[in-house]
Amino acid sequence: MKIHEYQAKELLAAYGIAVPDGKVARTADEAFEIASAMCPCVIKAQVHSGGRGKAGGVKLANSPEEARDIAQKMLGMTLVTKQTGAEGRPVRSVLVAAAVEVDKEYYLSITTDSQRAGLVIVASAAGGTEIEETAAKNPEAIVQIPISVTEGFKTYEGIRAAQVLGLDDLLQKQLVFMLGAMTRLYLEKDCSLIEINPLVKTRDNRLLCLDAKINFDDNALFRHPDVLDLRDFSQEDAKEYKASCSDLNYVSLEGDIGCLVNGAGLAMATMDIIKNFGGSPANFLDVGGSATTERVKAAFEILLSDKNVRAIFVNIFGGIMKCDIIAEGLVQATREMGVSIPIVVRLEGTNVDAGRKIINDSGLSIISASDMADGARKAIEAAKGGRA
Ligand code: ADP
Ligand code: MG
Repeated sequence: MKIHEYQAKELLAAYGIAVPDGKVARTADEAFEIASAMCPCVIKAQVHSGGRGKAGGVKLANSPEEARDIAQKMLGMTLVTKQTGAEGRPVRSVLVAAAVEVDKEYYLSITTDSQRAGLVIVASAAGGTEIEETAAKNPEAIVQIPISVTEGFKTYEGIRAAQVLGLDDLLQKQLVFMLGAMTRLYLEKDCSLIEINPLVKTRDNRLLCLDAKINFDDNALFRHPDVLDLRDFSQEDAKEYKASCSDLNYVSLEGDIGCLVNGAGLAMATMDIIKNFGGSPANFLDVGGSATTERVKAAFEILLSDKNVRAIFVNIFGGIMKCDIIAEGLVQATREMGVSIPIVVRLEGTNVDAGRKIINDSGLSIISASDMADGARKAIEAAKGGRA
């Protein structure tokens, strides 16, 4: 789960980490009020995405009137950044933050390092720009410092990070404190990323977090109701939100073949095989081991609400779940929902013959496939003639 910059900064501040003064505004008048006590200031579009600066989502205001004008224009717009995709994200609030006189910008983050089964500090003196860009052009400028989860953060790890950033003794102390606090926050709230880009050295020689991004581990959210309260559905893909309500693992993609699959591994293999034959999947979708009629229906609804989907490929391996039960769910869902685009079905596993018979006897024009490759080819072919 992602949160907004202003929420991330509130969390960092609660752990004692220095952030510029700032307050969130939901109307232009609110921005005016806040800016009256904080000029010059920057007006920052609050969307779940980075790259806002280059996309016009971070602007300097020298007077409260200017702050109001900028906020007026930003609020209600859809901000498209390099990270959002063409659909962008709606700007529902802006952060009005004190403008900081910056001497130098750094990159600093903590994330999970699954290979080392621990955490890792990622630090770079080349801050401000996107880390992906630095990683591509100048990878040696990025340094990783592992942190043990069992032993916790150690001062020398912070000193090493300070050396990477080239900080003096005073700032080194601030960084060591900051990293200790970030590690605590990371572990206590079950984060998956805390990224500060840029972390800055101010003209009066202080370390300050100018931007902050915090992501949380979805699997641990159940034990953090305070974090769940920070969720902003307006920033999420509507289809992904609907899927999460029905307990479906769904990720929206840009292709035209809707995939309905049981099991994450098979779902990935299905996407691969579609690609292999020259097609393009519209989504990853794992309906899980207990694909009831209700869940199959919910999955169909989500796939059909995607205007790019021109054919659906149902790829089911009946293991714990039996093929005849799935076939019944499919037939019922297709009938009730009046699905008008081609559906290709590949069933394999327990009770497969009974399952195929249910589909063949249904009178519905479901295209049956003998195996995955056959199914992928048929789905790609069907998508060419499916809904425009
Ligand atoms: P994004 O990463 O989404 O582009 P940032 O918050 O990093 O957004 O802002 C982009 C740039 O704007 C920063 O690298 C920094 O140079 C400048 N900036 C952001 N906040 C402030 C601030 N409070 N004072 C001065 N400059 C700022
Ligand atoms: Mg940034």
